[in-house]
Parts: sequence; structure tokens; C-alpha cells
Amino acid sequence: MALIVQKFGGTSVGTTERIENVADRIGLFRDRGDDIVVVVSAMSGETNRLISLAQSISQKPNEREFDVLLSTGEQVTIALLSMALNKRGYEARSYTGSQVHILTDSAHNKARILDIEEKNLRTDLDKGRVIVVAGFQGVDEDGNITTLGRGGSDTTAVAIAAALKADECQIYTDVDGVYTTDPRVVPEATRLEKITFEEMLEMASLGSKVLQIRAVEFAGKYSVPLRVLSSFDEPNFDDEGANGTLITFEQDGEESEMEQALISGIAFNRDEAKLTILGVPDEPGVAYKILGPIGDSNIEIDMIIQNIGADGTTDFTFTVHRNDLEAAQEVLTNTAQELGAREVIGDDKIVKISIVGVGMRSHAGIASTMFKALAEEGININMISTSEIKISVVVDEKYLELGVRTLHAAFDLAE
Ligand code: ASP
Ligand code: MG
Repeated sequence: MALIVQKFGGTSVGTTERIENVADRIGLFRDRGDDIVVVVSAMSGETNRLISLAQSISQKPNEREFDVLLSTGEQVTIALLSMALNKRGYEARSYTGSQVHILTDSAHNKARILDIEEKNLRTDLDKGRVIVVAGFQGVDEDGNITTLGRGGSDTTAVAIAAALKADECQIYTDVDGVYTTDPRVVPEATRLEKITFEEMLEMASLGSKVLQIRAVEFAGKYSVPLRVLSSFDEPNFDDEGANGTLITFEQDGEESEMEQALISGIAFNRDEAKLTILGVPDEPGVAYKILGPIGDSNIEIDMIIQNIGADGTTDFTFTVHRNDLEAAQEVLTNTAQELGAREVIGDDKIVKISIVGVGMRSHAGIASTMFKALAEEGININMISTSEIKISVVVDEKYLELGVRTLHAAFDLAE
């Protein structure tokens, strides 16, 4: 007997047949006595269809109306799923975000959840009802419908689990958990039984797309036990640990350190580009003069390198999202003129590969293992950055697959 929030993504509810399968699965949990709140996405492809409908009318549709439109996708799924549950003899009630009263700010298309009214949900649960909530949407203070950004249903699920202090938030998707790396790149990648929130956050922000980053942040902040699992596998009630990947909190103590793998996973990101400004005067304030205008243009900077100066000048390199390369290059070219720099070079044929693991905290030598493995394959490293639990390198795009495979092997992640 537990209170479980279960979230089903687009592919898991992509057809009415799949919706019926989801209803069967929920039934198994109900029969066991669990209280269930379900959060669903729109049927797969539906949100994209709605977006193109809007764009056929206007390239920049009114944001409020855009959210009214986008929120309809999830409304279809909650009704169909509730019907399927009712047909099976389970009492179910569907609710839109605004009916639950998922209060958000007014930032249309990327709203943030501020509060969730718990009372109505409790009343239904007490009556033995399965609650089916539309993900990805809420309502602002003035009653306008808002949406939370692509992939936002994960965040809805975690937020509801936090509000209800659920025993677990289960995110059902089309993969059966979080892997040591993308199995499409490394077929020997293995499913992780556990990963810490911090590691998951790094993996998500470094390009692993299993969970929306905001959902992971939210779960970490409110200590919501989170599990990623496949909606195509049978539930395994005998050995819960064998299902999917549990995202946990790091444990202190020697024992847990010994169990801890050094590296949990290899993440990579293809959406990177790098910019170099050559021959800038090596004097105080130069970093600010270069990066200030980039920030003012709302372009996010990731890695930064400044070389040691020679002959009074220095070179400066940083990375941005590939989509921002053109805009950043324009800003930087202006700056170059003002500073009397020699040249600006943009390069979008680069990728970032990262190793992630809390085990790094207590072990030296991880970086040299990484660099040695890459060197042995003749992979040149352009940039390096580190944090307490990750090391990232920028390499040429053509080395992505080789680099990821090499590191996966170097850290024995295949088991
Ligand atoms: N339906 C929305 C999307 O496609 C939200 C979600 O699936 O989480 O982005
Ligand atoms: Mg989704």
C-alpha cells in the first residue's frame, strides 16, 4: 500500500490500444491497494501537430492563445485514459491542470509551478478514485492557461508527488531506465539500477534526454523518490529494485563509498559550437568586455578558456549552443573591432563528451584515465572543464562515437 504518482509519456499513450495497456497496468497497482495519481502527456506527435497548426496561421502566435491550443493535447489523453479505467471497473476522474489548480507564474510556454492545491486530490483519493491529471499545464493567478515547456509533464508529475508527499514518482517511458550512455552509440551500455540526483542532473544537462532537467531539479529539491521505467515491461512487484532506475540521494559513510562506482555514465552533447577571439589585449577587464555583450544578448556561455598571454595579447575561447553561434559571432565581431583583436573564428563541428560520477569526489586519477584513453585513440582535446562530479571535454564532431565508446570501455561500464 503506497501512494504512487505515475507519469506516462507520449509514446506510452500513443494509441487507444496503448492507453488501454496503461489502464491495465494501473489496475494491477490498484488491485494491490496502492493509491494512484496518473499524469499523462499528449498522444505522441500531438503537441507537434498543434504547434504546426498554430504556425500555419502565424509564425509568432499570441502566447496566451498558443498555450490554450497546446494544452488540448493532454486533455484528450486524460479523458480517454479515465474511460479505459472506468470500463475496467476502476473509478477514475480526469482533471486539467487548471481544474486541479496547478498554479503557475504567467510566463506562457515556459511557466513555472508555484503551488498545487492538495485538498481536492486528497478527497478523491480518500474515495478510492484514480486521479488522472493532464501534464504540462497549469493556470496563472488571473485564470489564464499556461504550459510548462516541452517535456513538461515530467515536472507536473514530480510537483504533484511533492505536494502529496507520495511514496514514489514513477516516470514511464519507452526506455527501461537510465543507461550508462546512449545505447544507440554504445550497444553494450547497461541500465543503472540507481543514480544520484546530482549525477542525473549532470547527465540531463549534458544531453541525456531521459528526463526533463527541471523535473530532476524539482525532485531533488523536494526529496521526491523518482524512478524511470518502461511502460512496455511487466511490473515486477516481487523485487521493486529490479524495475527501471531509481534516482536516489547520495549516502554518506565509507560503506556507500566502497559500493559507489567511480563513474556512473558518459553523457554527450552535439548542440555545441565554439568561438575564438584571437589577439586581444591581455589586460584587466578583457573577459568582461568579451563576455558581457554575449550575456546581454541572452546567449548562454558554457565553457571558457583564456590562454596565457604572450607579446601583450591573448586568445580567448568559449562555447555556446549551436543555435546561438551566428548571433554570438556577430556580437563578438563587434567586440573584436572595439578591442582591436586580430580575428574571430566560429566552429560548429565540435561536441562535448562528459564523464559523470559522484565517485570522483573520493578518487584521484580519474581525469588522467580519461585523457589517456582519448590520447590512445588519437582524439585531440580542444577544451576541458571540470566540476566536483564531472569532467567534460570538447572534441571534433567526427570523434563523438569513438570518444564515447572509448570512455565507456575505459571505465568498465559495460560489466
Ligand atoms: N506534450 C508535451 C510535449 O510534447 C509535454 C510532454 O510530453 O511532457 O512536449
Ligand atoms: Mg514527453
